[in-house]
Amino acid sequence: MLVEEFNMETMIEEFEALTKDAGRVQNETLKKILEENGSAEYLQNFGLDGRTDPESFKACVPLVTHKELEPYVQRIVDGDGSAILTGKPIKTISLSSGTTHGKPKFVPFNDELIESTMRIYRTSFIFRNREFPIGNGKALQFIYSSKQFKTKGGLAAGTATTNIFRSSQYKSTMKVLHSQCCSPDEVIFGSDFHQSLYCHLLCGLIFREEVQFVSSIFAHSIVHAFRTFEQVWEELCEDIRKGVLTSRVTVPSIRIAMSKLLKPNPELADLVYKKCVGLSNWYGLVPALFPKAKYIYGIMTGSMEPYLKKLRHYAGELPLVTADYGSSEGWIGANVNPQLPPELATYAVLPNIGYFEFIPLKENIEEHEQNKSLPTFLRTEPKPVGLTEVKIGEEYEIIVTNFAGFYRYRLGDVVKVTGFHNSTPELKFVCRSNLLLTVNIDKNTEKDLQLAVEAAAKLLAAEKLEVVDFTSHVDFSSEPGHYVIFWEVSGDASEEVLSECCNCLDQSFVDAGYVSSRKVKSIGALELRVVRRGTFQKILDHFLGLGAAVSQFKTPRCVGPTNSTVLQILCANVTNKFFSTAFN
Ligand code: AMP
Repeated sequence: MLVEEFNMETMIEEFEALTKDAGRVQNETLKKILEENGSAEYLQNFGLDGRTDPESFKACVPLVTHKELEPYVQRIVDGDGSAILTGKPIKTISLSSGTTHGKPKFVPFNDELIESTMRIYRTSFIFRNREFPIGNGKALQFIYSSKQFKTKGGLAAGTATTNIFRSSQYKSTMKVLHSQCCSPDEVIFGSDFHQSLYCHLLCGLIFREEVQFVSSIFAHSIVHAFRTFEQVWEELCEDIRKGVLTSRVTVPSIRIAMSKLLKPNPELADLVYKKCVGLSNWYGLVPALFPKAKYIYGIMTGSMEPYLKKLRHYAGELPLVTADYGSSEGWIGANVNPQLPPELATYAVLPNIGYFEFIPLKENIEEHEQNKSLPTFLRTEPKPVGLTEVKIGEEYEIIVTNFAGFYRYRLGDVVKVTGFHNSTPELKFVCRSNLLLTVNIDKNTEKDLQLAVEAAAKLLAAEKLEVVDFTSHVDFSSEPGHYVIFWEVSGDASEEVLSECCNCLDQSFVDAGYVSSRKVKSIGALELRVVRRGTFQKILDHFLGLGAAVSQFKTPRCVGPTNSTVLQILCANVTNKFFSTAFN
């Protein structure tokens, strides 16, 4: 069991005290942020004049998106060391995954963000461990670093997760939480993702008796890892049998590190081989390989939900536990109800890791409608409410003020308040706020798309096939515009089934604007384009080339015009097209 140095009961008490007093803690957190950064040019420009109360803050500092902050961030990136966004100069930059808009965004990173990351990791761990206690051992973590580089101004840059993995605090926290990765650093920080993945799998097998849980940042990487396992398992067994690493791993540092772990072990090779051949269609693969694993852990909500079905298949009876909620710009909430399945999971906001505001979406839609008829200068800004003022059942766009120079920042996520943990809200992640699919009066979000794909994929399941991954696009190249859904399917489906799937997709978008437009043909027939196996892997590789890391990768669910390379990859790999006849 866990060592004394980490007193779980005390930590739970601390969390309870913090959340009972969430309103006051929020005001104190804002005060601290504004005191530490009062000298920053950004806050000075808005005339805050050293005031640290929420009213002055909201009156002086505007709501912003990354676009407004970009010029400030760019100066930091280019090496201007003055107090621009923060009191203390920023020395490190994070690259957000940027899968939504097609290119990674630069975000300031500092020690305070590391500290809040550790705080959130510890918080969710204590609740998780109360429910699913782990023993001494290791974690099979499919984590990867991005390319690290120096910006023009000499600042270190990499994805936020890479910056975290590199920090000394990460290592020490993981040790205390008994969550040390079973792979050596050379594998985590290896320059070739495919080679790192192979070696993560190999390390997992070598330490199979010690693995306490299997994890990654986002669930996508876990599914990807075990899909790969299905391809390479015999090679892995051979490596274990002979104690020699496959020649496909060529990075010298990885080979050296692995040679220290890999010894000929025919018994283990036979055992793994037997386990694999004994499985039916790989159901229950994870517990079969890792008998001591207590759960599978990683972010499983939002755009990760489509991978749950496959993950459950690999997990067999093992519980799936979603990780926390945050972004490169800072953490928001911890999963303090780990017993809930990911579909019902919520995140309790930690009131001391940032200052949070919430724009009510219902009021905002009404206001937006009124605003549309007004000239720009008369339009009102949306009015956010504070952390403890949110209402159960309502949806909000979340605004973050962090310790790293982002003030009243519109993160772009929609959340729903499902309850309170003491006086801090528990949030359900709904979707990214930017509307996904729209041709005219129709509005369909990431969630609507996910539901449509789930419904249509049921028709494939009858054929023992599945949707490996999917995305969408609005095609305006012919009149009227229409939705295009791209599917990668696990095998060959008949044309008949696929055209049924296409009709089902079209009928599953139940938004009134869509249905009425389809009936009068002001939106064209939905098109299903099936792409070659491996196309989504090519998209992942494309983002890795831009400096993203697999750890933070999220398949873009709608490919807009700014994502032209992704669109090219998709279009170049189409093998079959279907047009819906559902509204003929
Ligand atoms: P990144 O751009 O890589 O920093 O990713 C941050 C984004 O990932 C957030 O703004 C969310 O849209 C998404 N995200 C992070 N955590 C979760 C979560 N627990 N559930 C759903 N989506 C999440």
